Amino acid sequence: MKKKGVLIVISGFSGVGKGTVVKKLIEKYHYSLSISATTRAPRAGEVDGQDYYFKSVEEFRNLIDYNGFIEWAQYVENYYGTPRKYVEEELAKGNNVILEIEVQGAMRVKEQYPDAVLIFLTAPDAANLKKRLEGRGTEDAKVIAKRLKRAYEETDDMEKYDYLVINDDLDTCVDNVNAVIVAESCKTANNREYITKTKNELKDIRKEIVS
Ligand code: 5GP
Repeated sequence: MKKKGVLIVISGFSGVGKGTVVKKLIEKYHYSLSISATTRAPRAGEVDGQDYYFKSVEEFRNLIDYNGFIEWAQYVENYYGTPRKYVEEELAKGNNVILEIEVQGAMRVKEQYPDAVLIFLTAPDAANLKKRLEGRGTEDAKVIAKRLKRAYEETDDMEKYDYLVINDDLDTCVDNVNAVIVAESCKTANNREYITKTKNELKDIRKEIVS
């Protein structure tokens, strides 16, 4: 029985552990994960086609011109975009699709897919967020300062999200995000095919009993 696939957008402050939460969510619950394109240089250990599709600025602009993205945004100094094809194909198959993207992109997704479910991941408090960014050791002090400034600006957008999930304990956070997805996917609006099928089956059974 085909459920309607739910498009789930996960955003959150830089350093909040989105990547780790999403990785664990996919491992444990097997959702379809969209891989973004970016002009950012790969970090140590990141693999092209697995973490991101790493593109030159020119390649990225070409993809914009060809309508290859559902949304794209500039974040700090780089471009990031969600490739259209994968998302459309997975939703058409009835699969739930996860996008891990920043706030501007999330708003553009909501405009195009009003049924998309927006989840904002946050840290227990601001000091914890700063500590996590510093502890990651992948960005220098200037970039960390920019990311914290951006986080401050993003607090205005938190209320535009449907759900807020705090990443304190990783496993609890992953299970809470999953609880949101399960609830959304149980919505009657995502189960119309089931309703029609059941109605027809009951009609047939009634006929059998009456005759
Ligand atoms: P990072 O450089 O740390 O991997 O990602 C920086 C920010 O870009 C994160 O907030 C991440 O969620 C966001 N991001 C990653 N992919 C996309 C995308 O396809 N579109 C948008 N709008 N943001 C993205």
